[in-house]
Amino acid sequence: MLASLQNAKLSWNDAGMPISDSFEDIYFSNNNGLHETQYVFLKQNNLPERWLIHNRDFFVIAETGFGTGLNFLATWQAFRHYRETNPEGKVTRLHFISFEKFPLTKLDLKQALAVWPELSLLSEQLISAYPYAVPGCQRLRFDDGAVVLDLWLGDANELLPQVYEPSDGLADVWFLDGFAPSKNPDMWTEHLFAQIYRLSRPLTTLSTFTAAGFVRRGLANAGFIMSKVAEHGEKRSMLIGRSQKTKANVKTLPVRSVAIVGGGIASACLTYLLTQRGYQVELFCADADVAEGASGNPQGAIYPLLHQPDDLLSQFFVSAFHFCQHLLNNFHNNEMLNHDWCGVLLKDIDEKSSQKNIELLNAGFPIELIQPHTDGAFFPHGGWVVPTELVKTLFQLSAKNGLLTQHKNCEIISLQKMTDHWELINRDGIRWSASQVVLANGVDVTMFEQTTSLPITPMRGQISTLLASEYDAISSYVVCGDGYIVPALDGQQVIGATYVRNDMARDIRESEHEENKAKMQRTVPQDVSTYTVLSGRAAIRGVTRDHFPLIGGLRSAEKLQITGSQMPKSGWLPEIESDLFILAGLGSRGLCSAPLSAEIAAALLLQEPLPCSLSTLRNIDPQRKWLRQEWRKKLGNRRG
Ligand code: FAD
Ligand code: SAM
Repeated sequence: MLASLQNAKLSWNDAGMPISDSFEDIYFSNNNGLHETQYVFLKQNNLPERWLIHNRDFFVIAETGFGTGLNFLATWQAFRHYRETNPEGKVTRLHFISFEKFPLTKLDLKQALAVWPELSLLSEQLISAYPYAVPGCQRLRFDDGAVVLDLWLGDANELLPQVYEPSDGLADVWFLDGFAPSKNPDMWTEHLFAQIYRLSRPLTTLSTFTAAGFVRRGLANAGFIMSKVAEHGEKRSMLIGRSQKTKANVKTLPVRSVAIVGGGIASACLTYLLTQRGYQVELFCADADVAEGASGNPQGAIYPLLHQPDDLLSQFFVSAFHFCQHLLNNFHNNEMLNHDWCGVLLKDIDEKSSQKNIELLNAGFPIELIQPHTDGAFFPHGGWVVPTELVKTLFQLSAKNGLLTQHKNCEIISLQKMTDHWELINRDGIRWSASQVVLANGVDVTMFEQTTSLPITPMRGQISTLLASEYDAISSYVVCGDGYIVPALDGQQVIGATYVRNDMARDIRESEHEENKAKMQRTVPQDVSTYTVLSGRAAIRGVTRDHFPLIGGLRSAEKLQITGSQMPKSGWLPEIESDLFILAGLGSRGLCSAPLSAEIAAALLLQEPLPCSLSTLRNIDPQRKWLRQEWRKKLGNRRG
């Protein structure tokens, strides 16, 4: 678990540059900090030249101390220039991972970056997408996914052991920032150096402003060949280093095309994120069209599931909520997509809910995420979306680059493992082959011989659509009390929803309309008894007991035994050799969690940097229940 965060406490010098009150150190030099950044971090790591000859299509830079993001912005600017001048260059994606213990507030970030007008086109995007100050990894995508920023909020020494090392290694370059070692000795530790080396690749280089002897020795002990070089235009020296690792033994096969089973928000997000990366997707959807399952409601609410800032479920949902907002905001010019970040109110409807809301408001979440309201707790940036439109938009955008093949009315009824590929077989006995399969088919994920034991419970839900004119609107935002009420769209108002465990029927029931109206009555003061129900829709959620989705490679029974018996005390790692992946169990909050869940699935599949910690990876592992039992046995703690 990660502790709550504190924002950076700043002063501003006469030149308008930020200074850290706690560390009594500068964020960047008064004397043209941008040029210094370009010299110390880009030039000393031989960038952009390395992007022309790199051995992967993505390049990973990791940094200690994000600060104002100046290093990130300078790198992004250089990467844009490289892409424009080298459209055929090998590297097409830049991945920047930065660790920050004391994030600047958005206001301070804005003020700090105002001194670099030459970066304003990029800094405005960073400021507008700047995440909530909640511990864990927050992923931002810019330039249609060509530039990815992972902001890991928390202490670098605590976070680095939580970073998953992909099979082909993680960082190509390290920028070691983080204030002078004399002012911040707690960060520059042997432990940090060892972690930096663990997450480096064979040709990884690093650079840092400092020339401190213990940093040089520490990094050399960890495995880097270190040297001192003169700092730009100064008498002072700085350090550069090169990893001594030998070539990694990459076990995974390169993926180029993927078969996805499903046609809801999970498969739509994954298809979009894979095709944007240039991968081919073959989609199999059982229904006549996409978004006819749980993702087919006329409107749905988007807000995170929260308990405490230091609990992993809340952290997952805050990251997911932010990623979802960020993704949807990039579609804002898309006319097909009705949605509104109008806010979501968690309404006090009785003693219990009001106590829960007070606890939530006092839990330490940032005020930008959740704030007090006269009637409860309010997510100012929550809102609603038309799920059908979102799903269709994502598939349409995916189809644009010719990388998507869709088979509708095509229910896959079995999967057969061949020597080096899977065969997917539909009801008519037609077969398709695929080297990688992802099951993103909602509650039906357990229908295959290979997946029957996945811990998904069907939970039927019905929504009711009311004639909006009869509703004396109490607010322009989503209200969640007993059930939820979404602001009217085209004269109709969605209220919902019911929960019926283990019921897979999708008939519309009068009794459940009454139930929805009764829930609404407990939430709003108006008399709703006379309100007309125009229509309804029922669908089945696939829920998990712990509210985490199921994401990751599936192990065969034999592989599961081996993983269990050989598990180190630090816990198990995700299955990456599997060619059968799961992306399901999105429960009642799939609209919020699907984009990040799909991003995690894509990163796992392609062995890219992951936007979540190893602990979260264990929490979302489709086979976590069994593996956790084995882990507890190993730790000698049966109760966990
Ligand atoms: P689905 O949308 O169910 O998609 C499954 C897809 O798989 C379908 O296209 C189906 O055709 C296809 N499929 C299944 N089996 C096969 C097969 N064998 N071969 C080929 N294709 C197959 N979430 C929120 O965040 N906010 C809300 O306000 C909200 N309200 C909800 C209200 C109700 C009544 C319900 C039921 C759910 C609600 N949810 C809400 C939850 C959310 O809708 C789900 O979490 C989400 O839609 C799940 O998406 P999915 O892609 O996993 O599954
Ligand atoms: N790279 C930054 C830029 O481009 O603006 C400047 C970084 S500033 C000199 C150092 C940063 O390291 C500060 O933002 C500070 O909060 C952060 N930091 C200090 N100790 C840290 C730790 N233990 N873990 C993560 N970040 C830390």
